[in-house]
Amino acid sequence: MKVQSNNFIPAAQIAIHDVDLQTAVSFGTNSGFTKRQAAMFAQGEAHGQALRQQAAAIKRHALNHLPDLLEQAEANMQANGIQVLWAIDGDEANQHVLDIARRHNVRSVVKSKSMVTEETGLNHALEAADIAVLETDLGEYIIQIGDETPSHIVAPIVHKTKESIRDLLVAKANMPPTDDPGEMTQFARQLLRERFLAADMGVSGGNFIVAETGSIGLVSNEGNARLTTSLPRVHVALVGIEKIVPTVVDYALLTQVLPRSATGQAMTVYTSLINGPRQPGETDGPEHVYVILVDNGRSHIYTTAYAEALACIRCGACLNGCPVYQVTGGHAYGWVYPGPIGAVITPLLTGLENASPLPYASSLCGMCKEVCPVDIDIPRMLLDLRHDLVEMGQGGTVWHVGMRAWAWGNSAPGRFVFGGKVAARAANWLKPKSLPGPLGGWTKYRNTPKFAPKSFRQLWQEREQERKGEGVKG
Ligand code: SF4
Repeated sequence: MKVQSNNFIPAAQIAIHDVDLQTAVSFGTNSGFTKRQAAMFAQGEAHGQALRQQAAAIKRHALNHLPDLLEQAEANMQANGIQVLWAIDGDEANQHVLDIARRHNVRSVVKSKSMVTEETGLNHALEAADIAVLETDLGEYIIQIGDETPSHIVAPIVHKTKESIRDLLVAKANMPPTDDPGEMTQFARQLLRERFLAADMGVSGGNFIVAETGSIGLVSNEGNARLTTSLPRVHVALVGIEKIVPTVVDYALLTQVLPRSATGQAMTVYTSLINGPRQPGETDGPEHVYVILVDNGRSHIYTTAYAEALACIRCGACLNGCPVYQVTGGHAYGWVYPGPIGAVITPLLTGLENASPLPYASSLCGMCKEVCPVDIDIPRMLLDLRHDLVEMGQGGTVWHVGMRAWAWGNSAPGRFVFGGKVAARAANWLKPKSLPGPLGGWTKYRNTPKFAPKSFRQLWQEREQERKGEGVKG
């Protein structure tokens, strides 16, 4: 997927004026946020916070031991009959899938939801090789027939209204017109079921890989992931290398916090552990299972001060709670991962110079950290990325000159007092309706504040003098 994150500001301005998008994203994020709060703290604040702390500890432990856990996971998957491949980047991951497809004479593929394959652009690679590919998650299917990209980690069509989905299904899938979401779902389900039965290969992601058992952990609500991984004769899972967890007990804990944070459920409808291909005597399951462990920039992040970002379990809670995402939606972020976590990992995975507006796409209110089930300090990383941008000289001339002037003015008490007085008097005398130049962005939607006639420093000194005077009298 092409990176268009440097276009964030104009894309956000368009999104802010898109009435349908505002309606859909506002409903989707508010609903997700409210359900998350209710589910996470259904058994009390202390219980919810304890779950978060345990999940955070598991992911930190897993990251601290990642090289060893990857080796353990590979050995145990191979012992289970899973063929393990490694991909340094998206092209190599796609090439592995194409090689597997050729080896098994695959002509049609069904896919369950996978953000890693969005990173690698797998659908385009398969189509270019003349292999039919169909997304089977309902939201991803709508995205595919609409020739769009997902706008949310968990809810790919959160930007769409019911009416726009209806119009798309009628136009692109010949659905008989209906406004009933249940009938729309039934129509898509019927259509997808036939393709599941005909597919040669199923491609999935993986929410977790359990190192001690060599298992692929998958959570979903629609059942499509289970059909994708069990009906076709070949199953390929593309999984980021950061998705390793040490034990099944860890997996059990994480499958409690992930659905609570993502969809407000105590547990997803389908929670699967896939241990390998069909065994002798079994009547179903794929004949071949492959896991492709995808790096694509993750090992670089692992060596930096941003390694904590790899703890993300892709629940989407930070998106739902973010006041910026709530008004811009996901497409404005210009790549696979939107919202606060996208503002961190997009620059890290695609290059800071390719996503320089994203670290500023935050009010730093801290809600992303507060709702994160693994307690990732996103605001700290956003500030660090801003620092990196300034170090790279990407802060802009106005920023550099302004900060230098500010530093000079504040480095001596006399200049500080004098500058404050001049600025306040000039502002109150001129009474500008808007600030000039690039500062105008601040006053475009706000009134210019009136400066108080006396500064805090003056008031404080006067009060101190009064107090001393009263003390002398007393
Ligand atoms: S950063 Fe935290 S809240 Fe955001 S998607 Fe990842 S795990 Fe969820």
